[in-house]
Amino acid sequence: MTSDVAAALEPTLAWRAILNRIAAAAKAANRESLPQLVAVSKLQDWAAVEPVLQAGQRVFGENRVQEAKGRWGDQRLTWPGLELRLIGPLQTNKAREALEFFDVIETLDRDRLAETIAREVAKGAPLPRLYVQVNTGEEPQKAGIAPREVDAFLARLRRDYDLHPQGLMCIPPAADLPGPHFALTAKLAERNGLTALSMGMSGDFETAIRFGATSVRVGSALFGARA
Ligand SMILES: *Cc1c(COP(=O)(O)O)cnc(C)c1O
Repeated sequence: MTSDVAAALEPTLAWRAILNRIAAAAKAANRESLPQLVAVSKLQDWAAVEPVLQAGQRVFGENRVQEAKGRWGDQRLTWPGLELRLIGPLQTNKAREALEFFDVIETLDRDRLAETIAREVAKGAPLPRLYVQVNTGEEPQKAGIAPREVDAFLARLRRDYDLHPQGLMCIPPAADLPGPHFALTAKLAERNGLTALSMGMSGDFETAIRFGATSVRVGSALFGARA
C-alpha cells in the first residue's frame, strides 16, 4: 500500500470508530436519537479532512472565522449538505462575516455580541442557528455565560434581540471530572425549554452523551493531533 492510500484510509477508519462509539454510548444511555458528530477540523491538514468528507461526514466545527473561510470557502459547491459550525469565540467585528459563513454559531456569550447579531440580521444578514456558551466552571480565561446568569441572558435574547437559540454549549474545565458540568448544562437547557446540547470532545464525548449531548465536538480523536 502506498503511503498516500494509507493516509487516506486511516482517517476514514477513525471516523467509523468514532461513529460506532457514539452509537454505543447512545444505546447504553437508552437515547432514542443518535447524537450528531461535529468533526472539528481546526488546524488540520486538508489531507486528513477530505477522506472523512468523502466517507460521508458533513458537519464540521471550526474555531476561527478566517481559518474556516480559508479551509472551507471553496467547498460548499463540491459537498452539498455541508454544515459548518463556529465553536470558538466570536469577536463583534467578525460577526457579520460569521453570520454569512456559518450554519451554526455555538458561542453566543454576551449582550454586545447579541446586539451586533440582531443589528446585522436587521440589515439583511442571514441568521444561523445559535447556541449559548455556558462557562460552567466559571473560568476567567474562558468564554461563556456564568450558570447563574443563563436564565436572564436567554430571556434578554428573546425579549430584547428577538434571538432564539436552539441550545447550550459548554467546555468543562480541563482539570475537573466533566460529568457534573454536563449535568448542569443539561439542567439549564431543560428549564429554559432548549433541546440542543453541544457537549463532549475527544476525551469525554461518551460521558457527554450519557448526560444528554445532542452533538459532540470531536477533533484529535478523529483527525490526530493538531499542528
Ligand atoms: C478544539 C475544540 C474541540 C475539539 O477538541 P478535541 O479534544 O481535539 O476533540 C471541541 N470543542 C471546542 C470548543 C474546541 O475548541
